[in-house]
Amino acid sequence: MKFLSSLHPLGGHLRAALQRNGDLYGFVPASIITVCDARISNLCKLLNPKVESNPYLAASIIMRAAAGLSGYVVASKGNLSIQKKNPYPPAIIKLSDIQQSVSQEDIVVKVIHIPPSLDKIIQPSSLDVPSSGYYLDIIAQKLGVRDANKVFMSRTVGKASSEVRLYFAAPESLLLDISSDLNVEEFHMEGSLNARASYFCGQAIYGDAIMASLGYTWRSGGLFHEDVSLQSYYRMLISKIPSGNYKLSREAILAAEMPLAFTSKNNWKGSFPKEILCALCRQHRLSEPVLAITIALEASCELSRSQKKLKVAGTDRFKTEYANGKDTAVDNGASVGSGSGFRCQVKILSKCQDLIIECFPKEVNKKQSDSIHNASLKVLSWLDAYFKDLDMPLEKLNYLANALDIQFHHDKFFKEFALCPSVYKYSGTPEAKLQESKHNNSFLFGQGVWSLSIEGSDSGLFPSTGCLVSVSYSVSLMTEDGHVKELLESNDEFEFEMGTGAVISSLESVVTQLSVGQSAFFKVELPPEEFIFAAADDFRTIRSMLSVQDCCLDYAVTLLAVTEPPEERMEQAFFSPPLSKQRVEYAVKHIREFCATTLVDFGCGSGSLLDSLLEYPTSLEKIVGVDISQKSLSRAAKILHSKLSTKIDAGIRSLVLYDGSITDFNSRLCGFDIGTCLEVIEHMEEDQASLFGNVALSYFRPKILIVSTPNYEYNTILQKSGLATQDDDPDERNQSQACKFRNHDHKFEWTRKQFDHWATELAKEHNYSVEFSGVGGAADVEPGFASQIAVFKRGFPLPENGLAEKEDSAQHCKLVWEWSTPEMPDMPASSL
Ligand code: SAH
Ligand code: MG
Repeated sequence: MKFLSSLHPLGGHLRAALQRNGDLYGFVPASIITVCDARISNLCKLLNPKVESNPYLAASIIMRAAAGLSGYVVASKGNLSIQKKNPYPPAIIKLSDIQQSVSQEDIVVKVIHIPPSLDKIIQPSSLDVPSSGYYLDIIAQKLGVRDANKVFMSRTVGKASSEVRLYFAAPESLLLDISSDLNVEEFHMEGSLNARASYFCGQAIYGDAIMASLGYTWRSGGLFHEDVSLQSYYRMLISKIPSGNYKLSREAILAAEMPLAFTSKNNWKGSFPKEILCALCRQHRLSEPVLAITIALEASCELSRSQKKLKVAGTDRFKTEYANGKDTAVDNGASVGSGSGFRCQVKILSKCQDLIIECFPKEVNKKQSDSIHNASLKVLSWLDAYFKDLDMPLEKLNYLANALDIQFHHDKFFKEFALCPSVYKYSGTPEAKLQESKHNNSFLFGQGVWSLSIEGSDSGLFPSTGCLVSVSYSVSLMTEDGHVKELLESNDEFEFEMGTGAVISSLESVVTQLSVGQSAFFKVELPPEEFIFAAADDFRTIRSMLSVQDCCLDYAVTLLAVTEPPEERMEQAFFSPPLSKQRVEYAVKHIREFCATTLVDFGCGSGSLLDSLLEYPTSLEKIVGVDISQKSLSRAAKILHSKLSTKIDAGIRSLVLYDGSITDFNSRLCGFDIGTCLEVIEHMEEDQASLFGNVALSYFRPKILIVSTPNYEYNTILQKSGLATQDDDPDERNQSQACKFRNHDHKFEWTRKQFDHWATELAKEHNYSVEFSGVGGAADVEPGFASQIAVFKRGFPLPENGLAEKEDSAQHCKLVWEWSTPEMPDMPASSL
């Protein structure tokens, strides 16, 4: 009596059972008992762990138990339901009558019908549950069986609080098996496995299934019910793959992609990698991933990028080791290696607690949380690749695992995910297969962009790697003839980090071409249908468009704002004039002092120095810029072009941009009056920085070489100002004494001593003198300049024809852009 009036879900079913008519009166389906009663379901699991994936097994356990209780209950043969043997006392019946009439009203609820064959499309449907009926009987009718006694229900699927379940009918043969006490453990029916339904709940489901959100819950007295739309169906479907989860967390299914790298907490938008990984494990009914943090005190010799970063963090030790290094110029990269930071190991266990995936990235992170997200992201990236192509050959899977520092245990892994059959449309037909392989090559969909047009005037403000950009966008489904267009997704303000693959690649490649205020319009090929339906509200129109014609996605995007990486933000906010301007002025001072007529800017980037030089009257006539970033170079070209076409005249007669590495020999960079290399070396690995120094002073041999790089010691001041530590966890500040770099692309940042050592050795070796200076702060006030500068001066004249000896056979760099005054005579570099 107490039970009947309680909120226990079984109570609801029992009340409903007492409302059933005729020979069904009082019968409660066995599968309900196993699902709705946690104690019983746990008992079943103890008796046989296989009930986890085989719902029929649990029902058979219940039926057998019921048969043993023949004095109390009736278990009907051929039916999976049980009834109390003796009639219920009148009080109970009356109570259930009252409860039923109070709590129940006529209900119409939207559900989804999932046919077993992948060729058949998912259909929305609805259930009419009359106040006097048992909702499971209504579902039974939908499934084409007589009554609820043959209906099974799955565990809940989707979010933690969800009441969404799959309902499916027990196959006839199974009923016979169970009633004849055969072993259902091995039960399987050929051909009719419902892949999509099984995918959702990780249980083998055969035949048609209904996905619905209704039932008796602990929360509500009556029948809880909620519509399940086609959109929510598709959202649940894609949430089972890592990138789908990420897209959902950003509410940008057709624009976002899970980034390939974790740069900083500040720049990561949407759910964090660790959260996504936990959610994914929950989705697949695995326990939480096991995280183990290691404090890395000693970095090994096979240094990864971030470990190198750390070397400079450990101060004292670094200095001694550095000083002991024999070949300091080039080899120091490998001879030193100490620092501290965090490494995180992630383990994923199977339901039976066997280790299935293990990831232990080599990288050392300065912050504990970064190491956790870094490792989690690797696991996610790998799983994502797997889920997008479940038939991926083992070699490829192994290869990817290797690249991501992952080890996985094949048999156990495949077994664990055996019920995740490929349910995406593009895995079926041959053309779809083709499409699929295209997707997997890139990890991203929609590589191709066509009909691109850019509108609005060029503001000169372009995003670069590491920037946070804010865009507004809309995506529509469009028929190829352009006649019909249906909005799928739009966003007024959407922020992401450039250069990490945080949006689909076609969108990112378009945004790099936009300056703030401009808009782009373009088309891309269709992503898997699931993503379109997950984004769309109005599936009817979409479905008919897709079925009638070839379609594409039509994007419109406007670049609203660009936020520079922390370094630039800090340089502008903390120094007046901004540090970058101070560096330019520093260079101008030397140009004037030496009456330089030629200048080469090594690592010119977007041309900030070259652009500013045009503002100052100097003796310069010929300017060359070199960089390896094509994006930066094309931006530089744009800026310089507009500057030169509006400017009346400076003395400049030629300006050239080359695409190439400054560590490669290239005769066109030889013999200049002044070489500048501002804030570049810290973007290279340390051995490369040394290589550049050697190549520049032994081969390019400018009269003067100005090299600037951040002073690591100054970071503490910037940190105190709060400008450089926005993404620091307060609780981690103590753990990690070492402060972070100014820009996540920096491979190192040197103390004054380290810079001094690098420059002095170089100068000595190549017969240059060197002086130290800087901008921001002062030389005699601790901790020195914010940006430290070394000025190398050549101590010998350049020999006649000095370049012939080492003429480069291959021209390493290619001309990107060239401007010259018309009357400019041909001036070979060697004549300078
Ligand atoms: N000197 C510019 C840009 C600094 S950012 C300024 O002061 O604004 C660092 C630049 O170095 C980037 O544009 C990057 O592409 C470039 N760079 C890094 N390694 C390089 C290499 N090996 N060769 C040429 N350029 C390089
Ligand atoms: Mg820099």
